[in-house]
Amino acid sequence: MKITRLDLDDTGSPEGLVTKILKAEPDLPVPVPVEELAQCVDITDIATLTTEGYEGGLITDDCKSEGVILVNAAARRGRRRFTIGHELGHFLIPTHRPAKSGQFLCSREDMRRWSVQENDAYARMEVEANRFSALLLMPPPILRGVMEKFRDPDLAHITELAGLFDVSKEPAARAYANYHHQPVAIAVVKDSIVLRIYKHTKFPRIGISYGSPVPRNSLFHYAAKSGQKITEVRQNGAELWLESDWGKRLPTLYEQVFYQQEGFALIMLWVEQEEEDEERDPEENRTARQRWQDRLSGRNRW
Ligand SMILES: [Zn+2]
Repeated sequence: MKITRLDLDDTGSPEGLVTKILKAEPDLPVPVPVEELAQCVDITDIATLTTEGYEGGLITDDCKSEGVILVNAAARRGRRRFTIGHELGHFLIPTHRPAKSGQFLCSREDMRRWSVQENDAYARMEVEANRFSALLLMPPPILRGVMEKFRDPDLAHITELAGLFDVSKEPAARAYANYHHQPVAIAVVKDSIVLRIYKHTKFPRIGISYGSPVPRNSLFHYAAKSGQKITEVRQNGAELWLESDWGKRLPTLYEQVFYQQEGFALIMLWVEQEEEDEERDPEENRTARQRWQDRLSGRNRW
């Protein structure tokens, strides 16, 4: 790699920085070699973080001439990579200043912040560091190319994405929901409680707030005993998840569940778009809806 910090001059936003990184390293491989990249831009060491309760840290001087990234060594590889990207974000974004002089310390909660209230400067830094890490590890031009082949939504693709970019399933799920050409949302669930939901910009309003139990009639509950890790895609009542506007008919909703370890699960929600919005597949001359119906009825399964 030949990138240096001079290539990143005058850039302050996560998007601007990642654009400049890709310009300086047009053949950046995936999985992105985040440690090597950090070293090219003046991170002198990546060491083990020993402070309890934190996921990552950054030690640097006031003018950020160089830095040392600290990572929770007990975390899995994908999460450690995300943490390195996050701390690198704090290091490279000029406006990021630590709460305590010379050291950033970031918790797991910080690593999951994606939105922020207007005046919360601390949270804003965390949100930006997360956005930087996600963009760096899953660069949009490469991600878009990969997403092309995922025509019909399926949670099995999350495993594929996570493997390809060497990230954990949650950032992969977020990227999948954001970049899929169909309106999908993915709920992250732990012990039957909805923790977070990542959604496509065209996904309708969800009526379930974070911290609420998974709706009682969700596929999540009745497929749990089947022993399948990833369920089939099933149609279910849209009113379970969506907020209803008075007098407006709700779209058709499909659910799919991916059960994971330690009580975690991902629930994908997909809504059927209005007929006129559907693109026809020129190859097969079938709409996405027809493909789904074929799939639901057991024909053409893959
Ligand atoms: Zn942070």
